Amino acid sequence: MTIADQEAVLADPPPPDPALRPDPAEGLPATDPTLARQAPGRFEVLATAGPARAARLWTAHGPVDTPCFMPVGTYGAVKGLTPDELCEVGSQIILGNAYHLTHRPGAELVAKLGGLHSLISWPRAILTDSGGFQVFSLRGLQTIDDQGVDYRTHFDGSYHRMTPRSVLENQARLGSDICMVLDHCPPGAADAATMNAAVERTTAWAREAASLRAEVLAPEQLCFGIVQGGTDLELRAAHLRVMAPLPFDGLALGGLSVGEPIPAMHATMAAVAPTMPEDRPRYVMGIGTPADLLAAVRAGVDMFDCVMPTRHARNAQVFTWQGRLNLRWAALRDDPRPIDPTCGCLTCRRFSRAYLRHLGRMGEALFARLATLHNLFFFHQWVAVLRRALTGGTFDAAASELSAVITRHYPIK
Ligand SMILES: [Zn+2]
Repeated sequence: MTIADQEAVLADPPPPDPALRPDPAEGLPATDPTLARQAPGRFEVLATAGPARAARLWTAHGPVDTPCFMPVGTYGAVKGLTPDELCEVGSQIILGNAYHLTHRPGAELVAKLGGLHSLISWPRAILTDSGGFQVFSLRGLQTIDDQGVDYRTHFDGSYHRMTPRSVLENQARLGSDICMVLDHCPPGAADAATMNAAVERTTAWAREAASLRAEVLAPEQLCFGIVQGGTDLELRAAHLRVMAPLPFDGLALGGLSVGEPIPAMHATMAAVAPTMPEDRPRYVMGIGTPADLLAAVRAGVDMFDCVMPTRHARNAQVFTWQGRLNLRWAALRDDPRPIDPTCGCLTCRRFSRAYLRHLGRMGEALFARLATLHNLFFFHQWVAVLRRALTGGTFDAAASELSAVITRHYPIK
């Protein structure tokens, strides 16, 4: 970060435009007692602007209004926050990592304890990934064949096998509202032959998952398929043609944000997402930055998840409408202002930059909690701006405003 960037984020901000700073938790369907429950899987598009849309997805644990950012709770906890705090910052659905939970504490144990919702005391929706992404990332510890993957865990080196059936069985034990199928996600820099092979394998595994879901998953558990193909638009389109007719409740774009150039990732979303089925949710896995989220919503993506707001918070990086602030900066030593004077989160309502910097220097546990609360509030607010603009008919103006914030404060590198 340059000195000019630092000065911009340290300057007093202009008074906020109230339309551009909604409370992300306000007006969520999850908090509306008058809303009649609907069958899991029901998906209503509420408003559109070009490919962009606002919609509502029903799960066994209530509705999710999209576009929607999903915080990551790898081991069944969004690090440092209680379920009540997650609700307060506007989280409607969280993501759990099936690879981690299957081994720690163990899918069988979670099932014995009443499922993940009961264990972690989270009343709203949970999406779990299949665990495949983590296993394919275990370099040197896995062997892939056409039926599945043999791997050794990074926990204790024990040997296991993952198949299209086993990942659904584990997600059935966890009790996830939205289960993801096993796919093969190659690195962003993979050659064409590797990419083609991964797409073919993903298709075969998706067909197997589609035929197994009624047997393995509970009727209220939703199941999403995954489209691969890297940034090759023809390969993506071909894979989408195969995946779209399969009986999944939603479709995801996998294999993005895995090392490819950012403009190519945005171009892939812009080309592919609008051609995905309109009557089902569209999910881009593992994104992203404020710029990624804007590009995704513009392309008609409904759901996304990323560790960025939570991981960055623990590393003292907080997001504001005037750029990123490093809470370790010496300049904050005696700064009595909150992280962002225009932010309505609990942290900004009560605590100063000077206090947060002090907490961070002392290694206090409260530091990561307060920084995480602020960052999640910011990410949910960022998406809430777009969601409300869609339903209010002002999407183009709101998207331009956010685009200007990105150009000024979060330039795409
Ligand atoms: Zn805040």
